[in-house]
Amino acid sequence: MNEICGDFVVVNPYVWLSNACVRFTDRIEDIYTLSGGGVAEGGLRIITHGMASTHTHLGLYPVRSTVAAGLDLDSWVKGRAWRWERFVRGNPEVSYLSSLIAATEMLLSGVTLIADMHFNEELVYRTLSEIGVKADLSVAIMDGGVFDSYEEALEENLRLLKAVQGADVKVRLGPCTPRLLTPEQFREIVTLAKQLDIGIHTHLAEVREDIEWLKSRYSISLKEFVDLVGLRDTDSIVAHAVWAEDVIDLLSSSNITVSHSPRSNILLGDGRAPVRRYLRHGVNVSLGVDVAPTYDLRDELKTYVSLHYPGEGPSDTLEAFRLSTINAYRGLGFGSGELSPGEVADLVVWSVTDPLVDDPLAQVIWGSSRVEEVYVSGRLILKEGRPVSSVDLLRVRERLHEYLREFSRSQP
Ligand SMILES: [Zn+2]
Repeated sequence: MNEICGDFVVVNPYVWLSNACVRFTDRIEDIYTLSGGGVAEGGLRIITHGMASTHTHLGLYPVRSTVAAGLDLDSWVKGRAWRWERFVRGNPEVSYLSSLIAATEMLLSGVTLIADMHFNEELVYRTLSEIGVKADLSVAIMDGGVFDSYEEALEENLRLLKAVQGADVKVRLGPCTPRLLTPEQFREIVTLAKQLDIGIHTHLAEVREDIEWLKSRYSISLKEFVDLVGLRDTDSIVAHAVWAEDVIDLLSSSNITVSHSPRSNILLGDGRAPVRRYLRHGVNVSLGVDVAPTYDLRDELKTYVSLHYPGEGPSDTLEAFRLSTINAYRGLGFGSGELSPGEVADLVVWSVTDPLVDDPLAQVIWGSSRVEEVYVSGRLILKEGRPVSSVDLLRVRERLHEYLREFSRSQP
């Protein structure tokens, strides 16, 4: 039995205990308060549930800053992302190395669950299992793009499904986005996912062009597309949904989780998703890093809180934390996202120097917080601010730099 104590134990964003401890094995056994004074000298020690990034491309970590190059989504995808992704597909080890560095940055920001959609996902799984973080994986299936064909992409996703199994990982099918597949291909993937009893991970209505494309190419609305491909009753992660108010009834159904990526949406000029309207309509909105200049999830929360969504009023820190714990964990089917007896013990111990006069979650998100310990299903994966894994990160960085030099030389 393990026991950790803190100045605060955050049960959920709206309930916390002062001077309290959590006792756990792989699941939480007990949470109780201590009598007497604080438990830490100096700064604060705060225990929370681990957070999740529900839409991420770990393999794009080395090109993460290019989303801040003033390009719109299509120019960025064609001019920057695909060049790198073709290189990554030709050099699968790069997926392993990139995702190790990216996932470590996420872990150091309190992330214990990552939904990743990209290529070479068996190697991404190797990374996440070596670090000890939970995973929800899919291949970005597209007709062309970085694949030779739709069939090749689908085959890669089905291989992943066969190769990867375990309590801490799920595999979905990843129809990338309506503009990179025909409606028939999209429908085939959704139908197959239902037959296999697994979920879907897709980009939907990320930019206005997605809606215009369906109209001009197929003479259908987003609503008609959703019905045509069978998304309506499918367990799905729907990334972005910036222009999806017309299908708010679909989004609010119980098996859909919207992944909102405020930094990616702003930097690539996608628009602003009506997130708080979605929340009021019962949509299960969570947060995902997607691709952003840092993979520190606290930066995504800070951006979410800092944005005023037009006509919707300001958001707040507690809401942002709810999106990245309760909504994310429940939506992906990994638990309640709260600390309570019987729940899986995905725990983060934070230290905060220079405390603020505010609640514990504000200390974690806005204060000088540092992750000291992380437990996933009760297993210690980060200790004294460093991953417990035996992976030599210095060597990983050296090896990745060699690939980056090779990539640069290969570019016109
Ligand atoms: Zn994405």
